[in-house]
Amino acid sequence: MIDSLFSTIAPHLCCGCGKIGTLLCDYCKYNISSEAHFECIICGNKNYNSDLCEKCHQIIEHAWCVGQRTDVLRKLIDDYKFERVKSAHKTLAELLHAHIGQLPASTVVVSVPTVASHIRQRGYDHAALLAQTFARLQGLRYRPVLKRRTTTAQRDASRSTRIQQARLAFTASAALSPNQPYLLIDDIITTGSTITYGVKALQAAGAGRVWVAAVARQPLD
Ligand SMILES: [Zn+2]
Ligand SMILES: [Zn+2]
Repeated sequence: MIDSLFSTIAPHLCCGCGKIGTLLCDYCKYNISSEAHFECIICGNKNYNSDLCEKCHQIIEHAWCVGQRTDVLRKLIDDYKFERVKSAHKTLAELLHAHIGQLPASTVVVSVPTVASHIRQRGYDHAALLAQTFARLQGLRYRPVLKRRTTTAQRDASRSTRIQQARLAFTASAALSPNQPYLLIDDIITTGSTITYGVKALQAAGAGRVWVAAVARQPLD
């Protein structure tokens, strides 16, 4: 609502180059989605010249991440999550779509469940909206089978607290197929613990092939 009102008064400017008309122009979208990066998407291990380190590859078959949460990606995600720019979900989903390419038709898209208080604050479920829009772009099925067990928010929690919370956080609401690929989508990967325990919850429910996609990885410093 706020976003649609705002965009009728002032049109969006491209986060990358300032061009009027969209949140991210096609040129900047292409530049961001095709940039190469060399560290493990899940744990941030820099010693690997591929998307997953050996340890993370043992539980996750494939992983994709558009880039680091810096510059343009940081602005887009922060607008989406914290400034109520709801329409950014489309741009973020398009970035993921361009980065990943077309997935097999049997792939099921799953989102990391959002803390209920965050949905109330924003007025929308940012993770579900991103995953649904991505599924639509790919022509894939979206199934929100992952549920949250606790309601503890982790934005300000320490690393060890986050890992502890994430371990208890998820469970799958249905039995899953051992053959179909499940693509678990999150917006940002920070420690990798949330997504890893999400993957494990899907596997515990019977999923045999679990893939992961995120828009950005938080730089570790
Ligand atoms: Zn641009
Ligand atoms: Zn790793």
